[in-house]
Amino acid sequence: MRQRLTVEAYTAGILSGDRIILSRAITLIESRLKNDRILAKKVLKNILPVTGKSLRIGITGVPGVGKSTFIEAFGKHITGLQKRIAVLTVDPSSKKSGGSILADKTRMENLAHDPLAYIRPSAAGLSLGGVAKNTRETILLCEAAGYEVIIIETVGVGQSETLVRGMSDFFLLLMLAGAGDELQGIKKGIMEMADVVAINKADGVNKSFAEQAVGAYRNALHLFPKPESGMDTQVLACSALDGNGISALWELILQYQEATLQNGYFDKNRQNQNLEWMHDHIRQTLEEQFYENTALKKALKTTEKSVTEGRELPVAAAERLLESFFKTRI
Ligand code: GDP
Repeated sequence: MRQRLTVEAYTAGILSGDRIILSRAITLIESRLKNDRILAKKVLKNILPVTGKSLRIGITGVPGVGKSTFIEAFGKHITGLQKRIAVLTVDPSSKKSGGSILADKTRMENLAHDPLAYIRPSAAGLSLGGVAKNTRETILLCEAAGYEVIIIETVGVGQSETLVRGMSDFFLLLMLAGAGDELQGIKKGIMEMADVVAINKADGVNKSFAEQAVGAYRNALHLFPKPESGMDTQVLACSALDGNGISALWELILQYQEATLQNGYFDKNRQNQNLEWMHDHIRQTLEEQFYENTALKKALKTTEKSVTEGRELPVAAAERLLESFFKTRI
């Protein structure tokens, strides 16, 4: 294991925008070791006053829709405006962190070499809850390091969209136009979460299909309830390849931010997200403590056996174990 720094060294390094120390601080908050957790808490407490100032943008879309190509083009547009951007990838399915870091850096090579950009993939082999905790804390670290725009990309599978929506100010859904099948295969719940639907790969022979799809999605979205933000979901076409629609999209995001800051939704959403974070943490800690309770481990094994063999009802068994758990805590 690499040597840890002092709380002061982490704090000063992050606040000065030192990318190496930022990376080491992210590794620290990802650690499950008790001493690391204590150190991480102190670092987070120190940087808290300078967090919260970024615009957090969640991006999703099925594999192959062009997310990494899009993020690279979008990211270069942002750094071209002299803004600093951090890209975090949420992938609860990733197994090998070494592999995915390499894959991400080659995926977004131009952006990875941009001094105003910082790319960090999700740590591997974690539960959804673990990924959520790490990503939320990584957002804070990146904000403290001066990143003004934070992209949180999901791989578009499982529940990761809901998770990323729950930590973003703005949610972008990337889609593809299919000739004639624009409205097929879309998970309705995900459309409802989107603030903007962007039809990607609107270039070459695909351009006119993409424009037709824009119309079809606009019509379909009329049938959806008005979003809580008070802002109608927008639809546009873009191409990560020729850059078409990228700056228009950035403008839309800024308009959304401006309008939701004015109508109070921006802050309300962040407050709700913080409450959700607190409750998530309570649930996760209780669960961990229950399953890591050494006194209970044996009882858990024998109870599993009696439930499997039908000698005890699952609920009765669970209640008996919970009762013992709470007794060990008093
Ligand atoms: P991801 O799996 O969503 O991250 O998708 P990628 O960014 O890896 O892109 C998948 C494929 O689509 C690659 O072959 C890209 O070159 C291609 N692609 C991405 N964006 C565009 C685009 O805007 N136009 C076209 N024509 N192809 C694109």
